[in-house]
Amino acid sequence: MVVELISVGTEILLGNIVNTNTQYLAEKCALLGLSMYYQVTVGDNRDRLASAFETALGRSDVVILTGGLGPTEDDLTKEVCSEVMGFELVEDENTRERISKYFKNSIYKEIPDNNWKQAMVPQGATVLDNSNGTAPGLIMEKNGKTAILLPGPPNELKPLFIEQVTPYLKKLQPQVIRSQMIKICGHGESQVEDKLIDLINTQTNPTIATYAKTGEVHLRVTAKADSEEDAKNLLKPVVKEIKKRFDTDIYTTKEEETLEMAVIKLLKKYELTVTTAESCTGGLIAGRLVNVPGASEVFREGFITYSNKAKRKYLDVSKSTLKKYGAVSEQTAKEMATGVVFATDADACVAVTGIAGPDAEGEKPVGLVYIACYMKDKVKVEEYHFKGNREKIREQTVVKALDFLRRSILSNYH
Ligand code: ATP
Repeated sequence: MVVELISVGTEILLGNIVNTNTQYLAEKCALLGLSMYYQVTVGDNRDRLASAFETALGRSDVVILTGGLGPTEDDLTKEVCSEVMGFELVEDENTRERISKYFKNSIYKEIPDNNWKQAMVPQGATVLDNSNGTAPGLIMEKNGKTAILLPGPPNELKPLFIEQVTPYLKKLQPQVIRSQMIKICGHGESQVEDKLIDLINTQTNPTIATYAKTGEVHLRVTAKADSEEDAKNLLKPVVKEIKKRFDTDIYTTKEEETLEMAVIKLLKKYELTVTTAESCTGGLIAGRLVNVPGASEVFREGFITYSNKAKRKYLDVSKSTLKKYGAVSEQTAKEMATGVVFATDADACVAVTGIAGPDAEGEKPVGLVYIACYMKDKVKVEEYHFKGNREKIREQTVVKALDFLRRSILSNYH
C-alpha cells in the first residue's frame, strides 16, 4: 500500500511555517507499515493543486492532503479534490450542526457566512468529526484510490489522524508491523553499515535502517507479517545476529532508553557511586546524568574545574603537571580523575579536559580531548580528536565520556 502526502499552503512554500504535519504523518505512516515515495507541497492555487493531486492519484493508493480546508476563498482542497475525483458537494446536516455548536461555545456571537462552506462535503465521502475546529476531515474513495483530507492546524490534525484515520488505514493494510531498536556506541554510521553489509544487502523483511546520532548509531529492525507472533519470529534471528556482532557496543535495545539512563542503571546494579570532573564540557556530563530520575542514588558531586587554579584547588592537580604537560593532557586528565575520587570518596569518576575551540592552544589542535575514567584503583585515559564546531566537540565529548564510564563498569564488574 503506497501513501503520498500533499501539504497545501502558500505559507509553507514561503517558509513562514515549518511543515511539521509532514514529519508527523510520515512517521506515523511508516509505523503502520505503509510505503511512501513522495511528499509534495503546493500553494493555495487551484490548477497546481489539481495537477499535484492527479499525479499523486496516478502513482499512489492513498493520498493524504493537509491544509486548505478552512472557510476562506483560498481554501481549495476539498473543492479541487472533489472535482478531480468526480464528487459532488452536498450539505452535511451533521457538520452544519457541529459548526453551530462550535460557535455557540466560542467567543463569537455570530457565525460568519463563509463558515457554512465547511458544511459542504463530497457526496458519499466519510466525514470525520473534528472536535477541535470547524473543518471536518474527509475520506473519499473511488476506483481503488483513496484521498484523505485533514485540516492544517496540528492540534486538529493529530487527534483526527490517531482516532479516525489510523483505524481506517489499519483496515486497508491489515498486516502487523513490529520493530526493534538497537542503540550502539563506539562506531560511526559507515562502520556499523560495514559490519552489517551482508544483512543490509539482502534485507527484505525485516528491514534494517540506520540513524546516525552524535557519537551513537541507532538501528531499527522492522518486520511485517500477518500476525504479531510471525512478526516477532521474523525479527528474532536478525536481532540476535546484530547483538552477536556488536556485543557490548550495544548499550540498549529499548526505544526510550538513553545512554545516560543505561549508565545510571549499571551504576545502580553494581551499587557504585560516581563523580565528574569537567573542564571543556562545563557540567554537561553531570547534567546528562542528573537528567535521569533517580540519579541521586549514584551521582555524588560534579566539579566544573575550568581554570588551572580550580583544577589545583579542588582536584589537587599538581602545578608541575600543568606546567610540564598543560591543562589539556593525558597527565592532567589522570590527576583530575584521581583527585576527584579522593575528594569525594566515590567508586568511580569520569574527568574530561580538552580544546573545544574555536582557537587552538599552541601546538594542541581544536578537538583534542582527553577523557579519564577512574575505577577500582585504576585510571585509564583515552585521547580523542573530534571534528566540528565548539558545540559539536563538546557534545561528542559528553557521549564518549558516558560511554567510557559504561564500558569501564562492564569490564570491571560484569
Ligand atoms: P483552518 O480550518 O484553520 O483554516 P486549514 O485546513 O484551512 O485550517 P490552513 O489554512 O492551510 O489549514 O492552515 C492553518 C494553519 O495550520 C496554518 O497557519 C498553520 O499554523 C497550520 N498548518 C497548516 N499546514 C501545516 C503544516 N504542514 N505543518 C504545520 N502546521 C501547519
